[in-house]
Amino acid sequence: MRTDYDLIVLGAGPAGLTAGIYAARARRSVLVLDTGTIGGQTVLSYHVANYPGVTETSGRALSQAMLQQARAFGCDVKAFAQIAEVDLSAPLKTITLKDGTAFGAPAVILASGGVPRKLGVQGEDRFVGRGISYCATCDGDFFTDRPIAVIGGGNSALEEAVALSRYASSVTIIHEFDHFQAEPWIVAEARANEKISFLMNQRVLGFSGDTQLSAVSSVDKETGFAVETRVDGCFIFIGYVPNSGAFAHQVKLTEYGEIVTDGSLETSLSGVFAAGDVRQKRVRQVTTAVADGTIAALAALEFLSDLAA
Ligand SMILES: Cc1cc2nc3c(=O)[nH]c(=O)nc-3n(C[C@H](O)[C@H](O)[C@H](O)COP(=O)(O)OP(=O)(O)OC[C@H]3O[C@@H](n4cnc5c(N)ncnc54)[C@H](O)[C@@H]3O)c2cc1C
Repeated sequence: MRTDYDLIVLGAGPAGLTAGIYAARARRSVLVLDTGTIGGQTVLSYHVANYPGVTETSGRALSQAMLQQARAFGCDVKAFAQIAEVDLSAPLKTITLKDGTAFGAPAVILASGGVPRKLGVQGEDRFVGRGISYCATCDGDFFTDRPIAVIGGGNSALEEAVALSRYASSVTIIHEFDHFQAEPWIVAEARANEKISFLMNQRVLGFSGDTQLSAVSSVDKETGFAVETRVDGCFIFIGYVPNSGAFAHQVKLTEYGEIVTDGSLETSLSGVFAAGDVRQKRVRQVTTAVADGTIAALAALEFLSDLAA
C-alpha cells in the first residue's frame, strides 16, 4: 500500500522542518520522515544562543517549536521511520519502510544532516554538552576566560583554535601526529598566537571530571609518557560524517560523502533537492540549515508547478 504526497522530505532537523513549513504553507501535501528523533543535531545542543530573535533556548525547545509550526500548516511528520529503501530514480520517487508501507512523491528533499566524527574514547559521550563540544561557533562563548583544549590537526581544528582563543584563557591543541595536515598559513597563525600551545604526537585516551569535564588524558605515541591536560572545555574537530549513505550511487556526492547541489539546491537528479548539513557547504549552523530548507522547498515548489504546466 503506497501513500502519495507532492513532496517527501527525508530528515526532520532544522533544514527538513523548515522545508516542510514552506511547502505545507504553500498548500502542498508534504511528508517529513526521520529515521531518528525530531530535531536532528539540535537536540544535542543544551543552549542555542545564536538563533536570531531567540536570545536563549535549548535545541530541543527550538525544534519542538519548528515541529508544531510544520504540523500546524498540515505537514505530516514521522519520527523513527525504519526506512528499507529509497528509490530516487523514477519520476515518482518512492520510500519504502521495513513494514512494507511505501510513500511516493515527484519531488524529494534530502535533509538528513550529519554527525561530527567522534574519537570514540572513554568519557566522550558523557561530557558532550558538559565541557565537550564539536562546534566552536555554537559553544565558544561559554568558555570565556577558561582553559580549553582543541583536538585535531586539520584546517578546521586550527582555524577554530584561533577563533576560540578570542574567548578562552588558553588553548591547548592536542594532535595525533608530529605535524599538521592544515594549510601553512593557519599553522603559522596558530603558532604566532600567545594563547595557543601544542601537544603533538598524542593518542587521546579519555576524558574525566565530576559533573563537568576537567581533564583530557593522552599518551605520547613515541615515548609512552602519560599527559593529563586540565581544561574546562574540549573541542573535537576530527572530521564530519554526512548522513548520505542511503542516497549514495543515486545522487552525486563529494569525496567526503556530501551531496553536491546547484544554486537552487537541486542535486544531480531532477526533482531531488538537498538541504542543510548533508550537502556540500562550508558553514553548518541552524541558521544555514533553515536557509537551505527555505531555498530547497521553494525550488521544489517551482519544480512541481512546472510538472503540472
Ligand atoms: C553538539 C552540537 C551543538 C550544536 N550547537 C549549535 C548551536 O548552538 N547553534 C547552531 O546554529 N548550530 C549548532 N549546531 C549545528 C546544528 O545543530 C546543525 O548545523 C543543524 O542541526 C543542521 O541541521 P540539518 O537539518 O541539516 O541536519 P540535522 O540537524 O543533522 O538533522 C538531520 C535529521 O535527519 C535524520 N536522518 C538521517 N538519515 C536519514 C535518512 N536516511 N532518512 C531520513 N532521515 C534521516 C536524522 O535523524 C536527523 O534528525 C550544533 C551541532 C552539534 C553536534
